[in-house]
Amino acid sequence: MASPSKAGAALAALREDLVGDVFAPGDPGYDEARAVFNAMIDRRPAVIAQCVDESDVVRSVRFARDLDLPVAVRGGGHSVAGMALGDGAVVVDLRHMRAVGVDPAAEAVRIAGGATMSDLDRACQPHRLATTGGRASTTGVGGFVLGGGSGWLDRCCGLAVDNLLGVELVTADGERIHASGDENPDLFWALHGGGGNFGVATALTLKLHELPEFSIALLLYLPEYGREVTRTYRDVIAAGPDEASGAALYMTAPPAEFVPPHLVGTRLVAALLTYAGTEADLRKLAEPLLALPHESEVVGAMPYADVQCMLDDPPGMRNYWSAEYLTDAPDDLVDAFCASGESVPVPTGTMHALFPQGGAIAAGPHEYPVPYRDAPWAVHPFGLWEDPADDERCVQWVRDVRTAVRPWSTGAVYLNFIGDEGTDRVVAGVGADNAQRLGQVKRRYDPDNVFRFNHNIKPI
Ligand SMILES: Cc1cc2nc3c(=O)[nH]c(=O)nc-3n(C[C@H](O)[C@H](O)[C@H](O)COP(=O)(O)OP(=O)(O)OC[C@H]3O[C@@H](n4cnc5c(N)ncnc54)[C@H](O)[C@@H]3O)c2cc1C
Repeated sequence: MASPSKAGAALAALREDLVGDVFAPGDPGYDEARAVFNAMIDRRPAVIAQCVDESDVVRSVRFARDLDLPVAVRGGGHSVAGMALGDGAVVVDLRHMRAVGVDPAAEAVRIAGGATMSDLDRACQPHRLATTGGRASTTGVGGFVLGGGSGWLDRCCGLAVDNLLGVELVTADGERIHASGDENPDLFWALHGGGGNFGVATALTLKLHELPEFSIALLLYLPEYGREVTRTYRDVIAAGPDEASGAALYMTAPPAEFVPPHLVGTRLVAALLTYAGTEADLRKLAEPLLALPHESEVVGAMPYADVQCMLDDPPGMRNYWSAEYLTDAPDDLVDAFCASGESVPVPTGTMHALFPQGGAIAAGPHEYPVPYRDAPWAVHPFGLWEDPADDERCVQWVRDVRTAVRPWSTGAVYLNFIGDEGTDRVVAGVGADNAQRLGQVKRRYDPDNVFRFNHNIKPI
């Protein structure tokens, strides 16, 4: 622990040297700077360094090391466990580092470490190119990719990590290094699911895919059709091509254009079929879902970057999430999923999703620390509500969903879909063998566990 005078002098020097802004407790703007997506998170970092470039990141990490303080890295601030912040930590805040450079000829994109999904998708859209991205436009690309990366394109383009070509990183020593298949390959391997454990990714390069057309069918049904809808959705996906994805969902109907006004605020079932292809082909695929009695439908071609904003949740809500990855989705699993859906807390923003996996996810490289790759389906309950009085019932509902579907669980989980559920779940999220190897890579690049505000891998 540094003396107060040393800490004060170092902070003054950081304020002077950093091109971006620096916030410490008591500064105007400090509370705004420490707010994250999940309103349940209330952490008080020692310093928030809003970096504008790689040099700012190096300065901030070295500042933390000089004072023996841990470093938290903030990308989009979407971690449901609030891992972008740490009490008493130096937060390397990347929100002002959002440049995206598309290279259409190479079908690759270089993304600064604080860019959001929207920055990425909007830059690629004019080139009719895309890569697997998260389903909300404000999610940070950094946390999303380093954790694995699941989205509407993963069944045809692979997980985000399967598209990772290189990472520019600032290590715990404040050194700049590059990781790729040729350079620092062990570190590069660890960045395929090991999250922010190994340093600050100041830029990531991802492979792009041609995406000339994208279409969706979003249908809303009354809850009494839930089992039929979910089974039909499952069968449509199982018989369809890898370009098809989406989700079966239970939710409170939002006040949106596609919701008939008399149903706003009620519990509904939705089938969302996304398709990396034409509307005509999508319509054929969606026929069995369209044949079921539904309350509203949106079917048509839509730019991928626009679809990516459709499920955007407002910030400032309270959140508690979890997930189970499944061996299969037989009828009795569907029954269990739907029974949980019938008790989804309303009226809240909570959603209960059955996500298809398979396709390019299952066919992807098996050496990376993403052990949920082989699961054909995932159940992802995400509790989202406004009133602290709802904390207990919403958190309990998420826990009950896990219990209900556990008989079908593979035991592996995608860490970006869960909060802080303890060490065993971190191991389940990277795989037991991989956990050992990740611990060794951690020892090499961050022996003091400076980067500990994440699904933490301890150095071994
Ligand atoms: C509304 C919403 C929708 C979502 N949808 C999806 C989805 O469809 N698919 C999916 O896979 N996930 C999804 N997620 C989960 C999301 O991928 C994770 O929460 C992810 O960690 C968010 O990254 P972030 O940069 O926004 O978060 P942050 O909270 O800023 O960071 C999360 C973790 O990543 C680390 N990190 C972030 N950026 C960097 C960086 N540049 N270098 C090093 N470490 C970094 C942080 O230190 C922290 O440990 C969603 C989350 C939300 C809130």
